Amino acid sequence: MTLSLHPPETPRSSRPVAFLDLAALHDPLRAELDDAWRSALTTSSFIGRVERFEDRWAEFCGVDHAIGVGNGTDALELVLAALRIGPGDEVIIPANTFVATAEAVANVGAQPTFVDVDPDTLLVGAEQIAAAVTPRTAAVIVVHLYGQIPDMDAIMATAAAAGIAVVEDAAQAHGAEFRGRRAGSFGNASTFSFYPGKNLGALGDGGAVVTNDPALARCVRTMANHGRADHHLHTIVGRNSRLDSLQAQFLDIKLPHLDAWNAARKRVHAQYSEAFDGSSVQMVGTVPGSQSVHHLEVVRVDDRDGLRRYLAECGIESGIHYATPCHLQPAFEGTSSVTLPVAEEAARRQLSIPMHPTMRDHDVEAVVTAVLEHTEREANT
Ligand SMILES: *Cc1c(COP(=O)(O)O)cnc(C)c1O
Repeated sequence: MTLSLHPPETPRSSRPVAFLDLAALHDPLRAELDDAWRSALTTSSFIGRVERFEDRWAEFCGVDHAIGVGNGTDALELVLAALRIGPGDEVIIPANTFVATAEAVANVGAQPTFVDVDPDTLLVGAEQIAAAVTPRTAAVIVVHLYGQIPDMDAIMATAAAAGIAVVEDAAQAHGAEFRGRRAGSFGNASTFSFYPGKNLGALGDGGAVVTNDPALARCVRTMANHGRADHHLHTIVGRNSRLDSLQAQFLDIKLPHLDAWNAARKRVHAQYSEAFDGSSVQMVGTVPGSQSVHHLEVVRVDDRDGLRRYLAECGIESGIHYATPCHLQPAFEGTSSVTLPVAEEAARRQLSIPMHPTMRDHDVEAVVTAVLEHTEREANT
């Protein structure tokens, strides 16, 4: 890739770059996706569609069971409930995550214990978990943030020694690997979101729980379907959090393309890495043995808000994941009085730049040019 550094007074000459382009992703699948909702209209037959996707999703993740549910947040809550975690229990979670991780803990009546993350990878690790375990700790939710799995061998060993359960929040890590095993295959149970913007997204909300534990799988399935043991028998007080059958069909159509889409993200990431090497732009570090699926491309810079404004002037969309760590959100005020310096500093400095499988070389170049223009100008003032 050749980079031409335009003088700073010409930002508007850059081409607009979208943060995410779902229309471009879906365009080649249009006929198949159309067919799914058309046949739903014609036949009113929805039976069997969810099971087919569940089987293929379990196989993709390398686990025995997948249960489609309403969304990724419900998936977390259902897993915690199935593990009988509730009032009086503590659940360790990283502070640098989407608020859903913390919500699920609070919504089963347990107490979230927020811990800091690794300064290089921004992921929670075995050390932070070990230091936070108390006699009340029931589980840890490991979040594969931005698409990367932390050292799960170390984490599983730490959790086993402490006698706590491990839940993977893999909402950002569809297809990510650690030492040859896929996200979702390490913990007691793991959760996925199929929100449209995730690496595998539905055309609306969706989620899944995956596990190798047949009893846990049965419990989640029963809870998510009105506590049903069979059609007329409700053995527990459940809820309705089923995966919509039309969404399951859309997911089934998209799943065969997931590996290629993740490979395309990897190429974009390699271009960014090469371009930012030696600059003041700090990228997220790589965990040895981990194959990220680059859900988000997060960079850290000193003048984050200035860079975000400059990118907007250039027509380049960006996002912040996340602007406030969970332990400082008003919703979780009082649940913890800790200072978590790495997560707090990252929240001030991190910016998510465009990352999606249909990005072209010239899109990446436009982003790189604008980012380097701004950071080099900052360095010289
Ligand atoms: C998206 C996301 C969730 C929640 O998924 P929904 O389907 O939106 O409920 C949970 N955790 C993480 C890390 C996420 O990125």
